[in-house]
Amino acid sequence: MNTTSMVGVGKEIVCFCTRCKMDLGHTIMSMVGGSPSRVVCRTCKSEHNYKPKRGVTEPGGAGTVSRSSTATRAPRERTVEKTVPVEVEWMNQMNASTKPMKEYGADQVFMAGDRVKHPTFGDGVVQKLLYPNKIEVLFRMDLKTLIHSGKA
Ligand SMILES: [Zn+2]
Repeated sequence: MNTTSMVGVGKEIVCFCTRCKMDLGHTIMSMVGGSPSRVVCRTCKSEHNYKPKRGVTEPGGAGTVSRSSTATRAPRERTVEKTVPVEVEWMNQMNASTKPMKEYGADQVFMAGDRVKHPTFGDGVVQKLLYPNKIEVLFRMDLKTLIHSGKA
């Protein structure tokens, strides 16, 4: 039951106001067992039971953390800035293409703009046809020349 010299009837204490819903200066009206029991809010003048500080410094902010800790926002990921140009171009073309994804095979026939699924290089977009039986395909990491069956 230690009573510090800082608290006592008539002293000011910062505690939680149940009406203002935030930490405010209160005047202690009565003490119980060395702790404040009843306090009067200096802002709204209401008398209520003593409630410890909640770290709330904004009206209506009960239960939330204080402003200083919410101000630090996590920076958004900036993966695009780290990508190489070919990957950006690949991504643009993959997003732009509405062609169905075709499994790559040397016996297949491809057209410019086709989307290709390659077992090694992954997904790509056919850039152009190379006479007589090759296609140039933009994959995520590189531009590749692949064989296809060509046109009859
Ligand atoms: Zn108040």
